[in-house]
Amino acid sequence: MGQEMGSLLSLREHNRRRVVETLRDRGTASRAELARLTGLSRSTVSTLIAELQENGLVVERAAPAHGVVQQGRPPVLLSLDRSAGAVVGLDFGHADVRVAVADLSRTILAERVMEMDVDHAGAGALDAAAVLVTEAVEEAGIARDRVLAAGMGLSGPVDHEEDRVHRSAILPSWGGIRPGAELARRIDVPVHIENDANLGALAEITIGAARGAQDCIYLMVGAGVGAGITVGGRLLHGAGGTAGELGHVLVDDNGLICRCGNRGCLETVAGGPAIVELLRRADGDDLTLDTVLEHVAAGDPGAVRAVADAGHAIGRVVAGLCNVLNPEAIVIGGALAAAGEALLEPVRTAIERHTIRPAADDVRVVASELGERAEVLGALIHASRLADVPHLSHVPSVQ
Ligand SMILES: [Zn+2]
Repeated sequence: MGQEMGSLLSLREHNRRRVVETLRDRGTASRAELARLTGLSRSTVSTLIAELQENGLVVERAAPAHGVVQQGRPPVLLSLDRSAGAVVGLDFGHADVRVAVADLSRTILAERVMEMDVDHAGAGALDAAAVLVTEAVEEAGIARDRVLAAGMGLSGPVDHEEDRVHRSAILPSWGGIRPGAELARRIDVPVHIENDANLGALAEITIGAARGAQDCIYLMVGAGVGAGITVGGRLLHGAGGTAGELGHVLVDDNGLICRCGNRGCLETVAGGPAIVELLRRADGDDLTLDTVLEHVAAGDPGAVRAVADAGHAIGRVVAGLCNVLNPEAIVIGGALAAAGEALLEPVRTAIERHTIRPAADDVRVVASELGERAEVLGALIHASRLADVPHLSHVPSVQ
């Protein structure tokens, strides 16, 4: 083979890889989108797609049901074929573990949820999660060796260099555990760990309430208050992985001592446990967050007031972030998001009051579209983007 021929082939190979990886990253895309995203010409993309279709690696798909109705014929969407592989997403909340299996077009094939005291289960939570993965992969009808990668969400700041959650009281029984490596050993798949709020942010800007947004803040308000921040469409991790720990911003010098060891953090005022604690004096010791949310839905004035005050406190802190980051969307998720406008409206009001005018005008505050599944869906997206799609270099080109 002459050198020129070799370089032509490798260029073709390179372009094919770009198309496949773009499809992997996007889940689905039209030919025009692929041309725009890869910088290749429409005709090159069409030729490569024809080859990939012939080899069974790429298939055409029906337009998604939630697509906007447009004039004329909708573009044909393409995705990687299910035979290209599948990914697993896991989300370790405080009280449950969620597992989902999807193909590379992001079609969910199976899901599992198990209630568990994750904070205190340590290695036991990983054992249980591994069993859920096995069950879900079986239900999805995916051969084990076709699972390319797993994404794993954890409710604490993730130290990517060390593959562990930062030492803190947040996951007390997880000290010394390298969760990614431990889970990988159990399920025999490469595992990529990430903070859960970051995964929620990734899901909401990719397939949720902030679809297409580049600069977004996703708030997870539940047992704690956390945030996933995207800047220019990319997650903001910070120097050591603790970016987005919004719950530990000081809001009251004389406030309660927080689980982080500081005093008067936002979480001590606006986190789910703080709201429940506030209402227990009036509503009794057996009050839970679920009951508070029921009371809010029923219009109970005390519950509505407690959630509104939490929203206001969150809004004040987020207003500072709006001045600094000028986001286009703030998505509110986590268990407390079920309070709906009772929480969102005070957040909006506080942002309007404490943000400079242009930044306040730019931002929309919306509820999560993906709800309690946001983090596990983000884990799937995270996994698929990091998945090594095999056979890439083995697809024979059609000459
Ligand atoms: Zn704190």
